[in-house]
Parts: sequence; C-alpha cells; structure tokens
Amino acid sequence: ENVIEIKGITKFYQVGTQVVKALRGVDVEIKKGEYVAIMGPSGSGKSTLMNVIGALDSPTGGTYILNGTDVSHLTDDRLAEIRNKEIGFVFQTFNLLPRYSAIENTMLPLIYAGVSKQDRLKRGEEAIRKVGLENRAMHKPNELSGGQRQRVAVARALINNPSIILADEPTGNLDSKTSVDIMNLFENIHAMGNTIILVTHEEDIAQHAHRIIRLKDGQIESDMVNEDVLTTQ
Ligand code: ADP
Ligand code: ADP
Repeated sequence: ENVIEIKGITKFYQVGTQVVKALRGVDVEIKKGEYVAIMGPSGSGKSTLMNVIGALDSPTGGTYILNGTDVSHLTDDRLAEIRNKEIGFVFQTFNLLPRYSAIENTMLPLIYAGVSKQDRLKRGEEAIRKVGLENRAMHKPNELSGGQRQRVAVARALINNPSIILADEPTGNLDSKTSVDIMNLFENIHAMGNTIILVTHEEDIAQHAHRIIRLKDGQIESDMVNEDVLTTQ
C-alpha cells in the first residue's frame, strides 16, 4: 500500500529571466510503514521535494498522489487541509510555542481539528508517553533541553495519527549525543508502524533510515535499501 506516489515531478522557479529547474523529473513510491531518508548536497532539491511531499507547495509538472488523493494541483486552502490531516512535521528549530507547556504544545493540532478537551488530554498524554516525556509534560520549552524540545515536536507531529512524519534536518540544532537519542526515538516511532521521511544533508543521520534516496541536481541519483541501519538498541 503506497502512501506516496510521485510520478515525473518537476519544479521550476522563474528568477528574473532565468528558469531554475529545482526538480527535473522525480519518481518515488513510498509504502506505509517505510522509513526513508532523502539525502543530497545543498542545492540538490531536497527542500523543494520536501515542500511538495509536505503539501506546502505544488509541483510545476507531474503527479503526486498522497494516501490515494491527487494533491498535484490543489488550491492553497485544500493543501492546508490535507497537510493538517495527513502530515506531521518535525523541524530543525522545534517551532514550539514558548508560553505553553510540553503537553499543551503537543495537543495544539487537536484544537484546530476540533477535538473535545477530554479527548485532547487523553491523546496528549499518550503522545507524551510515546516520546518518553512523562515527567516533563508540564514544563515550558525554556525549561527543557534541546533534545526534550524535539521530543515535544515529535509528540505534536504524532498526535493526529498522520499518514507520514516529515522531519526536516531534525537534529540540525542538537549535539551529537542528543542527535543519536532523537534518531533512536525515530526508530521507536517507526517500530510503532509510522511512516517516516527524513530530509537531511548529513550522511550519518541518513544512515539511521531503512531506505536512502539520493538527490543530485534535481534528480534521483540512487534509491536503495539501507542494509546496515544504524541503531544503538
Ligand atoms: P536543497 O534543499 O537540497 O539545498 P533546494 O530545493 O533548496 O535544495 O534548491 C534546489 C535549487 O532550486 C537550488 O538551485 C535553489 O537555489 C533553487 N531554489 C529553491 N527554492 C527556490 C525559490 N523559491 N526560488 C528560486 N530558486 C529556488
Ligand atoms: P530550508 O530551511 O527548508 O532548507 P531554504 O533555507 O532552502 O529552506 O529556503 C527558505 C525559503 O527560501 C524557501 O521557501 C525556499 O523555497 C526559498 N529559496 C531557497 N532558495 C532560493 C533561491 N535561490 N531563490 C529564492 N528563494 C529561495
């Protein structure tokens, strides 16, 4: 069962009189439950592909089917709806609200989704448990370490049971030991059945994924199963 079916995707940017071809015909299929890294040097098209996969931007050409829906050419409002329902984002900069506790940050997407207060709390506690933050649930972001903040972000990404977790350089602001902790957390989240797409330019981070897609100049250079997945568990 494919969560993602991308066929012949292109993305062109007009810059003055120049056309920048950020994606030049990309084909990818990702099945439910896969853990995939998208790798490549700066300028290879990772952000552009992530923006398309995350329904943040539409491609210039080609088709993108996300969980059975063609999202290639939708209005911004429809894209936003699909995004909220289907995708859990994790960013390099955590993007937490400073005035809210860990569990309140985790539950925020449920307020937008109109879930009752009682259900929000139940699901919030469950998500906080999944990321191992039970004894930090009431702390605000500035009372948490970088790794704990990223755990909150992962809990928030999980809370709507999204079709995919899309993580953009999730360890970019963390020291190497904390990075390994977070990558182990992603391994756990993957083992619970979640589909994970990790965008990174760091080889040793990509090595935690079970499949590695390498981009070069807007095209797929290679797409391979990672036989030697890095885990410390
Ligand atoms: P990466 O994330 O791998 O660094 P990007 O997807 O950001 O690569 O960029 C791919 C190419 O597209 C680069 O040449 C970049 O300069 C160009 N690009 C990306 N976004 C835009 C934009 N909004 N306008 C113009 N050019 C862009
Ligand atoms: P990210 O933090 O996801 O890597 P970038 O820093 O590459 O994103 O880009 C930030 C924003 O600027 C994005 O909206 C991207 O599309 C745009 N952008 C990237 N490269 C260019 C470029 N060469 N010209 C214009 N806009 C760009």
